[in-house]
Amino acid sequence: MRLGIVGGGQLAQMMIQAAISLGIEVEVLASPSDTPAPRYVARSTIANAFDASNLQQFIDHCDFVTFDHEVIKADILRSLDGYQEKVFPTPHTLELSSRKATCRRLMVEIGLPTPKFEIATNNKELADAIETIGLPAIVKSSFGGYDGRGVFEVLNEDDLIQLKSTLPSEFEVVVEEFIDVDKELSIIVVREKSGELYSYPLLETLQEQQMCSEVYYPVQVAATVEARAKEIAEAAAQAVENVGVLAVEMFLSKDGNIIVNELAPRPHNSGHLTIEAMVTSQFENHIRAVCSLPIGSVEPLFESATMANLIGVDGELDQEIGRREVLKFDRVHLHLYGKLNRNRRKIGHITVVGDGSKNTTEIARQARDCFFVATS
Ligand code: ADP
Repeated sequence: MRLGIVGGGQLAQMMIQAAISLGIEVEVLASPSDTPAPRYVARSTIANAFDASNLQQFIDHCDFVTFDHEVIKADILRSLDGYQEKVFPTPHTLELSSRKATCRRLMVEIGLPTPKFEIATNNKELADAIETIGLPAIVKSSFGGYDGRGVFEVLNEDDLIQLKSTLPSEFEVVVEEFIDVDKELSIIVVREKSGELYSYPLLETLQEQQMCSEVYYPVQVAATVEARAKEIAEAAAQAVENVGVLAVEMFLSKDGNIIVNELAPRPHNSGHLTIEAMVTSQFENHIRAVCSLPIGSVEPLFESATMANLIGVDGELDQEIGRREVLKFDRVHLHLYGKLNRNRRKIGHITVVGDGSKNTTEIARQARDCFFVATS
């Protein structure tokens, strides 16, 4: 069996690691700037994945094809011969889940809670939307944003002027109310082609500068909150009909409501700790679903786990020193992505599993600190 992955970042790297154990051959279609996945497969094509003929050649060569990002336009995929049998998530799922405006409208349609929002495609609509939503507001570009790139907090008139000066001449943004967040939550749902669902346990994420920095299991919330989050995540997965993994990011507001933030139809940063902390990782289960193989257990193996991202900071991070020091820790799992250190770039992550008596978060932070060298 041969699986094609479009995109060559760390999500592809970790899918490749899972595919190797399953005896599935992987090919990667990557752009010239993509690291690290192309290094790890026998055959990788470095070409523009937005070009239909490149994609056609790629899918012709593979039994199934998936993605490590969601930026390929649905229309391009629909123009390919054989995409219905081979390409997962489908163009339909990508369309519904990846475009923030479409996703917000879908959540309203199926009765799932979202922040109050308006959609704007020009400066007049933007001003009107801000007027309707009120300040503070969050403005997000509808397509292609990640790690907070494309998310703007608008607290006052000056922020709005500044935002307008950065927007391109053609845009689509979602303007939404600012939620007073108690916790940010995530559930990874695996959906088979038959529609059968498997939900991993609830996870909590910590964001710093709108970028995920840590993930925790278990989450200290009432059982009713966990049950409601699972219900919402599964309803979202059925609505977008994904095949493979869908990450459902939610806010638990200070007044106790669960609100859907966004959907990602692929393995997700919040699910990295499933590699060591759950019976089957999100990467393996994504591949299993895409390749029509039975899904593995999503049960936890440990009482607690923490994942800490290694996020680049110019000139202050040493991967050689960090690796040497971290490997002295017990129950600490290191994943480096083979990327050069660059400001705000995810270059790796650390997962610590525990039996509940040890504070996995404290250990993960100590381990992460090994990578940061004093510059003074
Ligand atoms: P991205 O696609 O770049 O990850 P998100 O929509 O997930 O963008 O936003 C990034 C982060 O910004 C969120 O994790 C959250 O911390 C913050 N954020 C986004 N929307 C809101 C909101 N409506 N209210 C409060 N905080 C928000």
